Amino acid sequence: MSGAASGARSVTVRVPAKVNVQLAVGAARADGFHDLANVFLAVSLYDEVTVTPADALRVTCSGPDADQVPLDRTNLAARAAEILAARGGFAPAVHLHIAKSIPVAGGMAGGSADGAAALLACDTLWGLGTARAELLDICAELGSDVPFSLVGGAALGTGRGEVLTPLPAGEFHWVFAVADGGLSTPAVFREFDRLAEGRAIPVPQASPALTAALASGDADALAATLANDLQPAALSLRPGLADTLAAGTEAGALAALVSGSGPTTAFLCRDPESAGKVAAALAASGTCRATRVAASPAPGATVLPS
Ligand code: ATP
Repeated sequence: MSGAASGARSVTVRVPAKVNVQLAVGAARADGFHDLANVFLAVSLYDEVTVTPADALRVTCSGPDADQVPLDRTNLAARAAEILAARGGFAPAVHLHIAKSIPVAGGMAGGSADGAAALLACDTLWGLGTARAELLDICAELGSDVPFSLVGGAALGTGRGEVLTPLPAGEFHWVFAVADGGLSTPAVFREFDRLAEGRAIPVPQASPALTAALASGDADALAATLANDLQPAALSLRPGLADTLAAGTEAGALAALVSGSGPTTAFLCRDPESAGKVAAALAASGTCRATRVAASPAPGATVLPS
């Protein structure tokens, strides 16, 4: 059976990208994962996943980076549909279309976003009404960043990043510089481990100054507290990112940092006007492939009206 119980012909879910305003990384654990204190912030850069009943599971993707997105069962959107259908004992007979705006392998959790979006879209199409806590469990099974994509806003992630505590956040303005090519998150963590060899790594902890700045909406205070422990590793693998960071700061960004595992770089700006200027200067600098202006916080995965 198809499991399509709601009678809807298709469901579209919009889902945001994230930037980590703090990413504190602990030493490698025995299971290879790292304990993290990870402050996620959802930004207004969105993918849209549309799910439509079909004969069998199929994934398509559109957008400038579409050719880099796997269309097989390794796509997190496909895996989300499979896991949800398996729980109900039916086949995931759907066509998943991803309209992709989030940079691929860019450190902005694009694949995770699509996983959360597909889960919510399929749950809605199939009329399952799965409890929020169960959806979050499935998200955690899909990947460490997936629960936050469902929830959005701002949150502290602990454990591998999947245990979430919502945080209050004022409004902030951002520019993102998209780099040529991606960076593999596991490769960046391996480089972190290599650079950390022989050094004592402190237990990762959320910064009270940063969470207070986030809540206050004070861009100067947030700029002074932004921190990404993966940045040296990302810069070691992609030294050219230092030029992008410098170009944005010179153009008036209050702070610049690598987004998550990179190679997308993030620039915190005072207001939308300043963000427009920083984006134009970055585009003219020749140090990145594209620029995107966004605001935070953005809502998590949301079903769009049909
Ligand atoms: P994160 O910030 O969570 O570490 P990322 O933003 O760096 O992730 P993604 O865009 O999620 O990276 O892509 C990482 C890899 O995941 C891709 O290279 C691709 O092989 C795979 N992938 C699986 N599903 C998707 C998807 N729906 N969209 C993009 N990539 C996907």
